[in-house]
Amino acid sequence: MVSEQLFDVLVIGAGPTGMACAIACQRQGFRVVLVDKGCLTNSLFHYPANMTFFTTPELLEIGDMPFSSPNQKPTRAEALEYYRKVSEHYKLDIRQYERVDRVSGSDGDFRVHTVDRFEREHVHRAQKLIVATGYYDLPNYLGLPGEDLPKVMHYYDEPHPYFAQDVLVIGGKNSAAIAALDLWRHGARVTLVHRGAELHRHIKYWIKPDIENRIKNGEVAAYFHTTVSDITEDTVTLETPEGEKVLPNQFVFALTGYHPDFDFIESLGVNLDAENARCPICDPATLESNAKGIYLAGVIVAGERTNEIFIENGRFHGDLIAKDIAAKVPVTA
Ligand SMILES: Cc1cc2nc3c(=O)[nH]c(=O)nc-3n(C[C@H](O)[C@H](O)[C@H](O)COP(=O)(O)OP(=O)(O)OC[C@H]3O[C@@H](n4cnc5c(N)ncnc54)[C@H](O)[C@@H]3O)c2cc1C
Repeated sequence: MVSEQLFDVLVIGAGPTGMACAIACQRQGFRVVLVDKGCLTNSLFHYPANMTFFTTPELLEIGDMPFSSPNQKPTRAEALEYYRKVSEHYKLDIRQYERVDRVSGSDGDFRVHTVDRFEREHVHRAQKLIVATGYYDLPNYLGLPGEDLPKVMHYYDEPHPYFAQDVLVIGGKNSAAIAALDLWRHGARVTLVHRGAELHRHIKYWIKPDIENRIKNGEVAAYFHTTVSDITEDTVTLETPEGEKVLPNQFVFALTGYHPDFDFIESLGVNLDAENARCPICDPATLESNAKGIYLAGVIVAGERTNEIFIENGRFHGDLIAKDIAAKVPVTA
């Protein structure tokens, strides 16, 4: 179904950054629509159920709306509540559960082709596009034999199903450390495997001593300088500095990071900088990409360096973009 309405701005991705962009554009007087393949703040919804953010609440705020929390660091549930309230307050027009498949047309009249949950096709029209699609949809697969078994997961949710089970956690950063601790605290037998010599130096200062002490006490088994070479229904095989080790295993969490959908970005005509972490080419002052009329926002601006842009700094991208669009498009709303 082709929409008759020509929006001024269409934002792909209704995460915190996409929402901040939509608010900034609405404030300039533009008619804006957001499209997300999942629910509002879909990535946050899929974060571990009991997670706590690393950031204090005021750094997660968008649209100048206060985020109050009794906690020094807010929980996932509080953040979901907050972003819902922001969306209601600004009356954001969000088309949830529509995945953007491709874009046709050009600056001034883009056609955004989406597919909904029932495989029905829709087309939205907009003068300008903002791409804020994040990085959480595509895990960094390890390419291991057995990685496709249903017991292997790339997202950690909650600990209860793993009580009294042998669980392997692969990774050496925050997500792996947090999952290993949560699993151990809820009765799983946890083994942590990391290819590096030690846990990553970016692990948050309040998490590091906790995981290090669990390892020192033998409560979480840990193998460093170690990789996984095989996963079967009942075992995992580790390549350790002392040789091969086969461990009993019922579940594996491969928490080795995620990456932006580079194919999608390129399909829009946006070039990637092969010399610089595949950063999409864009003007840092306006965030307009080499594809005229298409802007980039949030974590995708840093390409493969997914640990450079977070909610705390990506939330300001909307203002840069809205200012540039305002200089180019007459307000119609
Ligand atoms: C466990 C964890 C904890 C974190 N804690 C913090 C923290 O404390 N502080 C902080 O600042 N950052 C934190 N981050 C990072 C932060 O959450 C991300 O950087 C942030 O979500 C990026 O925002 P975004 O809007 O750019 O992308 P996202 O929030 O990922 O939003 C992208 C949206 O685009 C949608 N989308 C993708 N492709 C399509 C498509 N083709 N069609 C339609 N929709 C699409 C997705 O469904 C999603 O809703 C954390 C990340 C993780 C994983």
